[in-house]
Amino acid sequence: MSKSIGFYCPHCGRRMYVSSRKKPSPLLHELIVSCQNDQCLASFAASLEMVRPIQNSINPNIEVQTGLPQHKRQWEVELEHHLSSLETMTVIDKQQENYVEGFISALFHSSTIDLTKASVYRNRLKQIRLL
Ligand SMILES: [Zn+2]
Repeated sequence: MSKSIGFYCPHCGRRMYVSSRKKPSPLLHELIVSCQNDQCLASFAASLEMVRPIQNSINPNIEVQTGLPQHKRQWEVELEHHLSSLETMTVIDKQQENYVEGFISALFHSSTIDLTKASVYRNRLKQIRLL
């Protein structure tokens, strides 16, 4: 039985279901999410990535503990830094927001990140604007 997930179909707005999942790394899950509205039936590939620890496990998996810093590349650290500083601002710095948007586009156009990853970052930026 597939599980309902907190994603909504962009076409009809119904809650989507996970119909398949892959786990390329302990921190990254790739899902196929499907709309079960029989008048729609859209499905998408989605990535669910744990991007940073909020609280460390009291019984950590060695693979995760050593994997996290190594997998972070310089651009990732920089982008994370900008995004988290925007996320903690009460008034959005338009210039910094535009910079981050340009940064994401540059990473995408240089094929450093794929469309999925670019969308994840753009969605975070969108969330910040909605605050
Ligand atoms: Zn749908």
